[in-house]
Amino acid sequence: MTTVLDDSDLSRVLVVMAHPDDVDFGAAGTVAGWTDRGLEVVYLIVTDGEAGGMDDVVDRAEVAEVRRAEQRAAAEVVGVHDVRFLGLPDGRIEPTLDLRRTIARVIRQVRPQRVLLPSPDRDYARIAPSHPDHRAVGSAGLDAVYPDARNPHAFPELLAAEGLEPWAAPEVWLTGGPEVNHVVDVTARFDRKIAALRAHASQTAGMGDRLPEMMRAWLTANAGRAGLPDGALAESFQVVPTA
Ligand SMILES: [Zn+2]
Repeated sequence: MTTVLDDSDLSRVLVVMAHPDDVDFGAAGTVAGWTDRGLEVVYLIVTDGEAGGMDDVVDRAEVAEVRRAEQRAAAEVVGVHDVRFLGLPDGRIEPTLDLRRTIARVIRQVRPQRVLLPSPDRDYARIAPSHPDHRAVGSAGLDAVYPDARNPHAFPELLAAEGLEPWAAPEVWLTGGPEVNHVVDVTARFDRKIAALRAHASQTAGMGDRLPEMMRAWLTANAGRAGLPDGALAESFQVVPTA
């Protein structure tokens, strides 16, 4: 386990994820806890998830619109009212300089003390969370936190043309990676996590009762590995200090 900043010392969190629903599968209970404690949380979603599900819909732009609306609704369930989309192509994300600059721009705009990202590392024990888009966003996001957003000489146009002062976010949380050094007890927020996931109806409507059953089994295992009492449910993270 690692040292984690105290929520009461924070005011803003930025969440950067590859697809609509990523934050809700990995961290909706944790996010609900942050907003309950008065933290302002901003979502930056890199793609519109137009490559996911809804196989009977030919027009992928229509899928994108549905998935953006679903993510906004899921965000409201956990107290997040600022959801931004980059609209990059689902399934084709690379950790380019352009993406690093774009994320660094938003870090300088939002000025978060904590940034939640997908892990850039592949988990060989559980391959699905290591989707290439997730790893690309994690890699570009970490580079944007350190060094890009804090270094005035990285992407100097952000300061010169847009007046965005450097910002050092001292803590990054990674989700879906092979390493876990911190868990959050979300037992009291499990119902809201499920409600947030249900908001992604294009992805989860067909799962019925399997959705809460799957989530309960997964979060119970997280809690058990961390030594939490029987019946506890937890989301798991790798917390990385960047100061
Ligand atoms: Zn995803």
